[in-house]
Amino acid sequence: MTEINSVTGPLLVATRSPHKLREIRAILAAVPGMEVVDLLEMGIPESPEEDGLEDAESFSENALAKARYFQERSGLLTIADDSGLEVDALGGRPGVRSRRFAPITGHVDRETQDRLNVDHLLESLRGIPHQRRTARFVTEVALVSPRGESWTFRGTVDGFILEVRQGNGGFGYDPVFLHPPLGATFAQVSGEEKARVGHRGVAFRRLSDFLRAAAGSGASLSDERDR
Ligand code: IMP
Repeated sequence: MTEINSVTGPLLVATRSPHKLREIRAILAAVPGMEVVDLLEMGIPESPEEDGLEDAESFSENALAKARYFQERSGLLTIADDSGLEVDALGGRPGVRSRRFAPITGHVDRETQDRLNVDHLLESLRGIPHQRRTARFVTEVALVSPRGESWTFRGTVDGFILEVRQGNGGFGYDPVFLHPPLGATFAQVSGEEKARVGHRGVAFRRLSDFLRAAAGSGASLSDERDR
């Protein structure tokens, strides 16, 4: 059985995105005694194998595949996430293909890819009225223990896809994602505001609550899973 020490021991955050890492570290700071390490600190070099870890048909399978892969390499309690945009009028697409939605041949930088993805989305939704342009961002975070036990935590946020971009902040589909409670797109609000209501924030706060409860109860991770 996984003892409480392995909950409060180092937690590997398996992402290569410095932006995500900052956001995740800030949320996990609420877990008492939690030491967080990243892939650079662990000296785990980037490998071409990592590209093949996101080929499944669901966010949770992708997140689990990444978390398992890095858990095996590090031996540590490990988390990884997968996110994307589901658009109802497109039957849930781009979904797990959000990063590679626009048909692109050859390599382009992240900014160009984001721009082409948004162009492709707007083109795919051309002529569809506002009330039918409903969509949600989804994040699944997977936690894998050194014993191979696993848990997933989901976060979603609802909105509408606009017909034109609004705002210069954020990344990816943010400039066309209107979140009605904010009355703004995710590219028009601060990073803090987005983290407060956004999919990643919701999913990582669920993970953080779980780890806090495990650490506070003195129970093992195995006991927590069965609750
Ligand atoms: P990842 O799994 O978090 O890297 O997300 C995959 C893709 O989903 C990104 O390349 C973006 O196109 C899209 N995406 C995920 N989260 C967001 C977000 O918060 N804003 C805008 N686009 C996002």
